[in-house]
Amino acid sequence: MTKNNAFEPSAGIGTKSVWAGEKEFLVHGATQVPVVHSVSFGYDDMDEWYEVAIGKRAGHIYGRNTNPTVQAFEEKVRILEGAEAATSFSTGMAAISNVLYTFLKPGDRIVSIKDSYGGTNKIFTEFLPKLNVEVVLCNTGDHEAIEREVAKGCQLLYLETPTNPTVKITDIERMARAGHAVNALVVVDNTFATPINQNPLQLGADIVLHSATKFLGGHADALGGVICGSAELVEQVYHYREINGATLDPMAAYLLLRGMKTLKLRVRQQNESALKIAQFLQTQELVDAVFYPGLETHLHHDVAKRQMRGSGGILSFALKDGMDSVRHFLPRLKYANRAANLGAVETIVGPARTTSHVECTPEERAAVGIPEGLVRYSVGIEDVEDLIEDLQQAFDHLKSLLGQTAGN
Ligand SMILES: *Cc1c(COP(=O)(O)O)cnc(C)c1O
Repeated sequence: MTKNNAFEPSAGIGTKSVWAGEKEFLVHGATQVPVVHSVSFGYDDMDEWYEVAIGKRAGHIYGRNTNPTVQAFEEKVRILEGAEAATSFSTGMAAISNVLYTFLKPGDRIVSIKDSYGGTNKIFTEFLPKLNVEVVLCNTGDHEAIEREVAKGCQLLYLETPTNPTVKITDIERMARAGHAVNALVVVDNTFATPINQNPLQLGADIVLHSATKFLGGHADALGGVICGSAELVEQVYHYREINGATLDPMAAYLLLRGMKTLKLRVRQQNESALKIAQFLQTQELVDAVFYPGLETHLHHDVAKRQMRGSGGILSFALKDGMDSVRHFLPRLKYANRAANLGAVETIVGPARTTSHVECTPEERAAVGIPEGLVRYSVGIEDVEDLIEDLQQAFDHLKSLLGQTAGN
């Protein structure tokens, strides 16, 4: 767990992305944080060893607990989220499950939303009920329903905004007020927004977490998760993780750390490109609906504008004729990986029914407003003109196919 002094609080977020959290881990004049692959850390002085082991003195004992490279990564995220403390995990799901299992016990009640990330949803529907934790999932974006359920009493309010894949927005400030009125812990998954676009702790959340696998790392080459919050809360989750063992690997920590140096540049580009692409998609006759918080047609555009500095790099759109169109459309794209990931430098596309909601039945997908022809589009850092041209030629192809069927 990392809890250091604030890094030049006046520095901008781009400067922090580059410099924050690294200095104390540099050795031998190296300008880059070393990857420390050592599993354990040795001591000749028995008293020093003891003091480090009981946490009285800074240092490392064993790699499952702490590691210098991992700590540098935690420190950078901590500073970007403006938090007192941070700790990291092997994956985003480990961050989420470790937070939930640290704070929930049998008999507790948790309130969340219906379209949280697929894995998170599985914890809610499959694993927490086994522990006799009552899970209440409200319609995403229905603030009144969430407030009603929270007011009945709960130990934890779990939010994710924007959501996967229809990028619905929840008002964090308003929900945090509702949660705190019943002494619930308010947890926000900030993976889609990144600290560049949104800081949930400043909006009243108690814990903010990320799948670092996505935008933080940004290069689709390392898995990781991270949480930030007060030292008191993070300490408890750190303890759960050090014992249960979902530790971030030092090499992954290094890759994530390196990726984060360009976080601001990437996210700024992705914000800009996503808006242009969303506007382009709105003009397409083969598109039934476009979901992007930056569009004025978005249900909670006003909330997004208030709590986010940019609308993010993820959008989704529904093709007319559902999966039949998707099957022809997606393989035509030149500048997109057809894959389950998101938040990388390359554009990534996938049907919601194959990616985020593969575990759901068509009926379950329909119930959370996911059309079978919904395509999630994670905008990369390519030139946006190329991405739009690429989409255009795929639409032209689809049109020519439709023309053929109509002619037959
Ligand atoms: C991918 C993702 C996760 C899970 O992260 P992993 O690193 O794949 O375990 C959690 N929340 C959101 C919003 C995600 O996109």
